[in-house]
Amino acid sequence: MRISRKSRLSARAATAGICLTLLPMTAIGQEVRDYPSQASFPNENREAVTRHLTSASSIAGTDLWSEFRWRCLISPLDRDMVWGVQHDGLVPATRLFDNLYSVGQNSVSSFALDTDDGIILIDALNNEDEAREIIVPNLRTLGLDPARIRFVIVTHGHGDHYGGAKYLQETYGARVVSSAADWQMMEDAFGRPGPFGSLVPPTRDIIAEDGDTISLGGTTVRLAITPGHTPGTLSLIFPVYEDGQQHMAGLMGGTGGGRDSETHRQQIASLNRWNELTAAAGVDVLLTNHPPHMDSNEKQYLLSYDATGGNNPFIYGRDKYRRYFEVLSDCTRVALARLGETGVD
Ligand SMILES: [Zn+2]
Repeated sequence: MRISRKSRLSARAATAGICLTLLPMTAIGQEVRDYPSQASFPNENREAVTRHLTSASSIAGTDLWSEFRWRCLISPLDRDMVWGVQHDGLVPATRLFDNLYSVGQNSVSSFALDTDDGIILIDALNNEDEAREIIVPNLRTLGLDPARIRFVIVTHGHGDHYGGAKYLQETYGARVVSSAADWQMMEDAFGRPGPFGSLVPPTRDIIAEDGDTISLGGTTVRLAITPGHTPGTLSLIFPVYEDGQQHMAGLMGGTGGGRDSETHRQQIASLNRWNELTAAAGVDVLLTNHPPHMDSNEKQYLLSYDATGGNNPFIYGRDKYRRYFEVLSDCTRVALARLGETGVD
């Protein structure tokens, strides 16, 4: 007679006086199945995984532990936890800097960069409903008129970033900016099987090239194309102000990383280049377009209660900013090693 693992657990719990009423009753002899479990990588190069995990965690130290944990461990290993944290839902609209506002939702970001001549919106959430029911009311809550949106910069061609762009384009006449590759991606997805097939993409408008700038009302956003997450992921550098003092913000549009060997390698090259670009620009403020990547929602909560001790938690400083991307780079090497790759230095 074989005793299933669940039965053994139940027997052990009973011995310990614990009632496991939440576990389904399992007949003796029945095989156990479908416990949630961490992802496994049967072909992994264990030595390389160890080496790059060690490097990432040591670069992260204690002050980037949470960011390391998300990129290197939770995201690749536990999809249930990812969806438990990164679910669609409302979070309060929040002013992050004198000229930058968070108007997105729990799982995905939208930022409003306010200028003298209008608003540059960065990403447009999942769909028209979220643009109309989340972005627009959030702007109004913060005293910003959505009719002043002049540009919508789409960081990349996944539906959770461009889904509401068509509505903003048609309703407010906003110019929509994306790279050529990701314009193509949005247009190709429309009407086809897949997660974004039901989304009508915005009408093709401004095609950004690497090194282009978008200027409005005395504010200039510098764009870089950083492939890896998508073929034409856009990353942004722009000034923000804290009590009138200028800082430089860097928003890498694809911190979600690649999906296979080729895109992981593209991502490593992009992360390295991004670190050079942002160091040269003096970037000291980290922004990501998914809040869990850097606990943005929790940081916003502290800001909204003025409970930061005077330290804006989005200001990482130049050294910590650089280390964040070194951690991502090592975590991408871990991802390659999990696929069994060698020579990923
Ligand atoms: Zn994406």
